[in-house]
Amino acid sequence: MSDPRLPVLVSACLLGRECRYDGRHNRDSALERELDARGERAVPFCPEEHGGLGTPRPAAWLEASAADVLDGRARVVTDAGIDVTAQFRDGAEGALATCVAHGIAKAYLKERSPSCGSRNTHVAGALVAGRGVTVELLERNGVRVSGVEGRRE
Ligand code: SF4
Repeated sequence: MSDPRLPVLVSACLLGRECRYDGRHNRDSALERELDARGERAVPFCPEEHGGLGTPRPAAWLEASAADVLDGRARVVTDAGIDVTAQFRDGAEGALATCVAHGIAKAYLKERSPSCGSRNTHVAGALVAGRGVTVELLERNGVRVSGVEGRRE
């Protein structure tokens, strides 16, 4: 019998996968309970691992807005100045493809990430109001993203 729960995309680190840039996770037990209560089924996804960056990996930030990155006007770079724009774009496209494949219209993604942040992200080395690259692409394509800080018991 098929699973009647509604599939939703979730940052894999929020579900306990050790895929953060520093090899740690952001497991959020409260989110797991909330998904259960709403009858939602988590489809885990990590855009940066999908883009081939590996774990651990250097921290990275956007040169300007995520919209500028997607439209080719800005890059994503590591602290050492390595250009990882292509990997971030691949990760975002993988997230969108996963949503299309599963019929997903809703996502819960980790705040403050240069990929997954929806209210805050890292631009030019600082934490600022703005979206990550994956969130920008998902929202452009009709997937509604909710930001989750993570690490709640
Ligand atoms: S915030 Fe997003 S890109 Fe970063 S580790 Fe979690 S799932 Fe991967």
